[in-house]
Amino acid sequence: MNAEIIAVGSELLTPLRQDTNSLYLTEKLNELGVEVRFKSIVGDEREGLVAAAKLAMRRSDIIIFSGGLGPTEDDLTREAVAEALGLKLNRDPQLLAKLEERFAKRGMKMSANNLKQADILASAAVLPNTLGTAPGQWISGKYDGQERILLLLPGPPYELKTMFDAECISRLRAKIPPQHIARRILKIALMPESQVDARVSPLYKAYTDVETTILAGAGEIQLHFRCRKPSQSEAEARVEELAGKIEDELGDAIFSRKGETIEQIVSYLLQMRGMTLAVAESCTGGLLAERITSLSGSSRYFLGGAVVYSNELKTQFANVPKTLIDKHGAVSREVAAAMAEGIRKRCLSSYGVGITGVAGPTGGTDQKPVGLVYIALAGDEGTQVVERNFPGDRKRIRTFATQQALEMIRRALL
Ligand code: ATP
Ligand code: MG
Repeated sequence: MNAEIIAVGSELLTPLRQDTNSLYLTEKLNELGVEVRFKSIVGDEREGLVAAAKLAMRRSDIIIFSGGLGPTEDDLTREAVAEALGLKLNRDPQLLAKLEERFAKRGMKMSANNLKQADILASAAVLPNTLGTAPGQWISGKYDGQERILLLLPGPPYELKTMFDAECISRLRAKIPPQHIARRILKIALMPESQVDARVSPLYKAYTDVETTILAGAGEIQLHFRCRKPSQSEAEARVEELAGKIEDELGDAIFSRKGETIEQIVSYLLQMRGMTLAVAESCTGGLLAERITSLSGSSRYFLGGAVVYSNELKTQFANVPKTLIDKHGAVSREVAAAMAEGIRKRCLSSYGVGITGVAGPTGGTDQKPVGLVYIALAGDEGTQVVERNFPGDRKRIRTFATQQALEMIRRALL
């Protein structure tokens, strides 16, 4: 079975508000084994809503509307769906009484426009709204010879979630043939997307029943696998088999197999080896420390460090000789290494990291362009420095640099 979600609200067509309801609904539908094939956002206008409803009824088994059930002029979902499906709207006396009671309890008089919140589509079941005034509606039956389920849910996210969980999941489950979805995520650090795809596409192309998606972020590629089968074990087995082949191909380039972040993996490895870490950051301004300390318990392996943005502080806090900076410049292989070694010594940690580079967008030169970053890792085995030219804006370059540092720590600990 497949579903379609229509988020209603003109505010969702502005840069100010995001449609999050469909994300929640998609997650819940997937858990039921239902694929979401279409999502759309429609403003508060009747014509657009009628067209969206008609189109959805032709192509989707389950259609969920979110929003537009309020009492105001611009809340038109009920009326539009009634028109699209050729159904009458009936004012439900019981609902009306409940609405009046709700207002009376708060010592308020119900205004006339609230009346329409008691309008129910002919044949619809009413879904109580315990948190707001707009009840939801459930319609199921044949439409043009096709079995359809149509849901009207309120727009406020907490109302929608509560209603969906309490009223819709069990009803849907009773209507849906049992299907199960298995998922796996593999994560790879600092390998170009094209390179990953070239190596893994021959493998996943052979698994037509497993949906494979490649998502690329700054210094991180994620491979997502999804498989739908009548039983969970069947679905898991297929995903497992494909993931296994890809793990064989990419080996230890894969840092995560169960959805863990690279920070979590580094944390795990440092603790396992009983090692500690300190950092000296220039162009990343503390982002590496932020990422590492975002995990609770990080005090067990992260000692601290310094944000050494100025040359003076590189010398003062990370023991980088002034002569070294004068000779090679602050953005150099030599200074990155000295920062890593200096902070390691000052903090008495097992490992020290030094990061120095040009995050841009200003400050680049022909010799040292924007994106040039040196990342150094100092440990018992010596110091390694990596020179990278990261693409993108300031934020991306800084993220890339911390990702590179985390990957170097991970590799050193393997
Ligand atoms: P209701 O059906 O409960 O009356 P509504 O759409 O008529 O909902 P609005 O006043 O338009 O009510 O929206 C209520 C709040 O819910 C607003 O803050 C709105 O931005 C938010 N909202 C509506 N739809 C969504 C959505 N799809 N995702 C996230 N927030 C939403
Ligand atoms: Mg709205």
